[in-house]
Parts: sequence; structure tokens; C-alpha cells
Amino acid sequence: MNPTLLCFDRDLRLTDRAIFAALEPGTQIVPLLVLDRRRIERIARNPRRAAYFCAAVEALDAELRLRGSRLLVRRAPLDTTIRSVARATGARVVAWSKRYDPAGAREDLRLQAIAEEHGMRALAVHEAVAVDPERFAIDDEGDAGFRSFNAFYRRWRAPESVRSPVDAAAHLSPSVLPSEPLPHPEEFAASCFPGTVGERVARAELERFVNDRLVEYARAVRTPALPTSGLGLPLSYGLLSGRDVVRNVCKRLEDPFLLAEERAGIERFLRAMARRDFLLFAGCDEAPQPEERLFTRASAEFAALAEARTGFPLVDAGMRELVATGTMHPAVRSVVASFCCFDLGLDWRVGMEEWERYLTEDEPALAIGNWRWSAGLRVDMHFPRIIDPQRQFLRGDPQARYVRRWIPELALLSDARQLHAWQDRQLALDFFEIERYPRPMLDHRARAVAFLERYSLWRAATQPVGALRSSR
Ligand SMILES: Cc1cc2nc3c(=O)[nH]c(=O)nc-3n(C[C@H](O)[C@H](O)[C@H](O)COP(=O)(O)OP(=O)(O)OC[C@H]3O[C@@H](n4cnc5c(N)ncnc54)[C@H](O)[C@@H]3O)c2cc1C
Repeated sequence: MNPTLLCFDRDLRLTDRAIFAALEPGTQIVPLLVLDRRRIERIARNPRRAAYFCAAVEALDAELRLRGSRLLVRRAPLDTTIRSVARATGARVVAWSKRYDPAGAREDLRLQAIAEEHGMRALAVHEAVAVDPERFAIDDEGDAGFRSFNAFYRRWRAPESVRSPVDAAAHLSPSVLPSEPLPHPEEFAASCFPGTVGERVARAELERFVNDRLVEYARAVRTPALPTSGLGLPLSYGLLSGRDVVRNVCKRLEDPFLLAEERAGIERFLRAMARRDFLLFAGCDEAPQPEERLFTRASAEFAALAEARTGFPLVDAGMRELVATGTMHPAVRSVVASFCCFDLGLDWRVGMEEWERYLTEDEPALAIGNWRWSAGLRVDMHFPRIIDPQRQFLRGDPQARYVRRWIPELALLSDARQLHAWQDRQLALDFFEIERYPRPMLDHRARAVAFLERYSLWRAATQPVGALRSSR
């Protein structure tokens, strides 16, 4: 039987691969990594991502070698590589994991066209999502199932939705063709990733989270000082499958002695994983929305946000966490994104592009979906949901544990209320460091009101009365 070329891009693992089940039993697989110009440019844009990617590729190659194969690396244009490797191996099929963001979807189309041009079958498989997209096929009422998150979630959460593991093993071809060296961080002007990476490490992280921290997830997800699962990073490089994560978490529900707290954590976590699938399915939608005209592409005030000196402690702490670690607590992300879109009046792409410089996780469809969502351009309904950053600070971080961790100028504070009193000039504090931290750069309430007024005027001019819900 002719072998299949398996192009690795985002799903850098061998276990629980839907692609193996989609191939005829016994098909030999040639694992291929093509680093063409576009790919190299994309990787080089963010040194953290480059480092993590290289470490994940190295771990993948080690897994392949354990199974008697190895990764075939080529630094050449995609079309000539596919043609030459197919010729040398006799491959008749090119398979890969489907991508969900607009640029990724264009890459999918390009790969498909290349395969077809060379008379090969193109096979793109849904690997990242936890639940089969077929479950959301258009129903009798013409509802595509993923227009509204709540409707989506009901179907997603149905017991039969959780897929069983894909246990089809790959038949990996022994390496016959010479490979170029594996990608190395230096190639992308990056340093080595300071930790261990790979599918085994990711599965161990998942197990630790399910056993030790799932119990407090419901609290952690709204409390910036507490860690959430951290699984977004390995999920975004496909070191774990969404299926695997959901299955492992659902297994806990079988425990008859489950604490109410843990049940709440599981439900909250599953909702987060469902949101991931929801936004991945919706990820390719890049049609500009008319509301986007209410936002601007540039503002001199943006520098204060980028430098984490807005005077809004939760916003600044979030930006400092991002720059220092490559991630930001999920509860703080929405606050910073709302501040960027509504208080500064900036187009969602401005904030997203800034974050892209620092984030290690690499899931463009989730970045786009969440930023649009934060700007009020939800998939299912459009309206501005403006978050008050000071109220969120008091609510989510009352002891200022998170803020003090990331803003050393505020390290001597006793709690969030004390900071508020100082910022409102109702309290004088005689420690020097606090004077180095700015007071709020703008009046949040005034900005929110101004935005809503602009929004209402625009709405009245463009939409019939009562048509607040927009169904795209
Ligand atoms: C403005 C904004 C931008 C974001 N940008 C990105 C991004 O670039 N890349 C990215 O992977 N995630 C992004 N997210 C989603 C979410 O914040 C991260 O996935 C999460 O912080 C990762 O940390 P965690 O794994 O500890 O999350 P947990 O809270 O432990 O969540 C578990 C998993 O659920 C999924 N999940 C949780 N929240 C969301 C969400 N809002 N949307 C989709 N999936 C979710 C993720 O896969 C996550 O790993 C963004 C959210 C916001 C509000």
C-alpha cells in the first residue's frame, strides 16, 4: 500500500490522533515537517513561541524514533517539497490537522491545492477540537448549532458527544530519506525553552491538574492570584488532544464521593473547553463588522497600556505578568481586553497584536475569537460589555495578592481597598514606592458612558428599533 505523508504543524503528538483512524488500516506514514519561508517568518515573530515549538518538535522526533521512525525535516517551499517527497516515497495521500484561524484555513487550502495538483488525495482532519463538528451540523430548523454558545453547549455536553480515545496506532515508515536538522531556537533568534516539553509531559500535567487542582478550579478561574489549569499552552501546540482533556475530566464525574466544590469545578472547566471548541469552529470568520468603525486603530494612550502604567492595578499587573511569563490569568485577560477596546477605544486587533508579541500559547483562532468577543463582536450576539477594572480588582483580588506580585511599587499595600483610597486621594501613604506608581490615567466611568453614547447613536442610525440582537 502506498504511504501517506503526514504534515505536522500544530498537532505535535502521536497519541490520540484522529488522523490515524481516518486512514486505511496498515497505511504507512511518513512524518514530515516543512519549514517554508512563511512558516519560518511566523515562528520567528515571537521568541517564546519559537523556543517552545522547537522543544515540542524535538520531543516529537524522540517519540518517532522510539517507534523506529523519525521526523523528515525540509526547509524548502511547500509545493516542491510535497512533490519531491511524494516521488521518493510513492505517497498518494497528504494528511494534516485542520487549522481554524483565517490564515491557517488559507494554508489548508494551499496544501489541498498542492496535493491535488500532484494527483494526491488531500486529507485534513479535525484534531484540535474535543467534539466532532458533525454534532453541530445544520438541524431541521436551519440552526447551525454554533451560532449561540448556550445552544452549542447543550449539544456539546450531551453524554454521547465525548469521543472515545482514538487508539489506532500509526504505522510509521522507517526513515529512508535523509532529513535536515531539526529546527533549533537559534535559527529564530530565540533561546532554548527553559523546561521540558512534549506529549508525555503534557499528559502528566493534565493528570496533576485533574488529581490536585480541579477541585478548586471554579474559584481559581475568577481569582487572579490562583493558578488555572495551564493546559492552554500544550493544547495550542497539540501536545494534548481536546478529547483527552475532556475525557479525563469527565471521568472524575463517575466518583460517587465527589465534593460539590469539585463538581462545580468540573462544570466550569467543561464550559471553558466547550468555549474553546465553539471559538475554534467560528475561528475562520474574519468578516469585518460595521461596529468596528466605532473603534480607532491608533491612540497615543496605548503606550501606557503597553508599558503597564495605566494606573489601573489589575490591568497593569496583567500586562506585567504577560511580559514576564508569556501568559496572563484568564480572568485578567477579559479586563485588560475590555480596557483596551472600550476605555482606550482601540480596535481589538491592536491589543491582540501586542499580546501576540509575548504569549507563548499559539492558538490564533482563540485569540481572534476572544478579542472579538471582548470588543462586543460576539459570534452569537453583538453588544458592548464594558468591564470596570477597579470593581474587578476589588472583587477578584481583594487582598491585592496578584497585584502586589506583579507590581513591586505596590508591594507594601495591605489590600485593594487601601489602594483605592490612595488613588482617590482619600488616604496618604508614606511609603516612597507607591508614589512611583501612577494614579488612573483616565476616568473609566466617563469613557464607558461616552462609548455607550456613541454606540447608541450608531445603533439608532443603522438598525431598526428593537433589533439589538444581531444574528450574523
Ligand atoms: C482577550 C482574550 C484573549 C485570549 N487569547 C488567547 C490566545 O491567544 N490563545 C489561547 O489559547 N487562549 C486565549 N484566550 C482564552 C483563555 O484565556 C486561555 O485559553 C486561558 O487563559 C489559558 O489558560 P489555562 O489553560 O490555564 O485556562 P483554563 O481556565 O484552565 O481553561 C482550560 C482550557 O479551556 C480553554 N479556554 C478557557 N477559556 C477559554 C476562552 N475564553 N476561550 C476559548 N477557550 C478557553 C483553553 O483551552 C484552556 O486551556 C483568550 C482570552 C481572552 C479573554
